Amino acid sequence: DIDRLSDLEKLRVLGHGNGGTVYKVRHKRTSAIYALKVVQGDCDTTVRRQIFREMEILRRTDSPYVVRCHGVFEKPTGDIAFLMEYMDAGTLENVLKSRGTFSESSLSSIARQVLNGLNYLHTQKIVHRDIKPSNLLVNKKMEVKIADFGVSKIMCRTLDPCVSYVGTCAYMSPERFDPDTYGANYNGYAADIWSLGLTLVELYVGHFPFLPPGQRPDWATLMCAICFGEPPSLPDSASEDFKSFIRCCLQKESSKRWTVSQLLSHPFVTKDWK
Ligand code: ATP
Ligand code: MG
Repeated sequence: DIDRLSDLEKLRVLGHGNGGTVYKVRHKRTSAIYALKVVQGDCDTTVRRQIFREMEILRRTDSPYVVRCHGVFEKPTGDIAFLMEYMDAGTLENVLKSRGTFSESSLSSIARQVLNGLNYLHTQKIVHRDIKPSNLLVNKKMEVKIADFGVSKIMCRTLDPCVSYVGTCAYMSPERFDPDTYGANYNGYAADIWSLGLTLVELYVGHFPFLPPGQRPDWATLMCAICFGEPPSLPDSASEDFKSFIRCCLQKESSKRWTVSQLLSHPFVTKDWK
């Protein structure tokens, strides 16, 4: 294991997110390559302590469908650095931009791998809360893994979910905007399924489904579309299996949405594409 940041050499910047910067780094002694995400530390010590407690749990996550976290470091500046498994093909958002939309057979494989990752996390009582193309990483072996627990939350009943509310609004499920449901019996697991459905539609049509191509998201319009509009559906070119799978994910009412284990046995995921 790596126990000091000084054991690492920065090679280059891989990208920037809302919360920080990701570097490609090399472990000096072993030459192993990792990704290092540096985020600005919160000055509130209770919040910081909670972040570290959560990160300890996340450090123990061990699934081939979830990006490994090899360590969490606190810099003297207060910044927090996460050492992660390096994924050499970047994010699905990067791949969409550089290589265009995905075929149904690749999306079936992506869906299966993300569902396996969510199955693992949900079994550990972890809701990701920020599933979207830029948080799904790929490598050259075409393995897809869930990344970025920056905003994910260990399910904790003692915490007011409205207070601990975080995440990217664009991929948020309708019930997350509703103070009545976003309360005591709010089901965070179902919200991850909504985000997965939206992500798959985006990778198929090439743009964020609630907005016409190229339009910049405007928070109010978007929220109205998510809460009061019809859920996005696939164009006629898509197969019946794919359309049905997306309908199962994009049920506006969270109790009608399929669970991870139900979706893992959906024909779109189990079908042999050869
Ligand atoms: P957010 O802050 O909401 O998570 P984001 O997902 O776009 O936004 P980051 O998670 O900070 O931003 O990631 C920024 C970029 O760094 C990604 O687009 C990706 O190119 C790269 N990246 C992140 N993690 C890894 C990794 N483990 N391996 C390789 N590249 C990575
Ligand atoms: Mg991210």
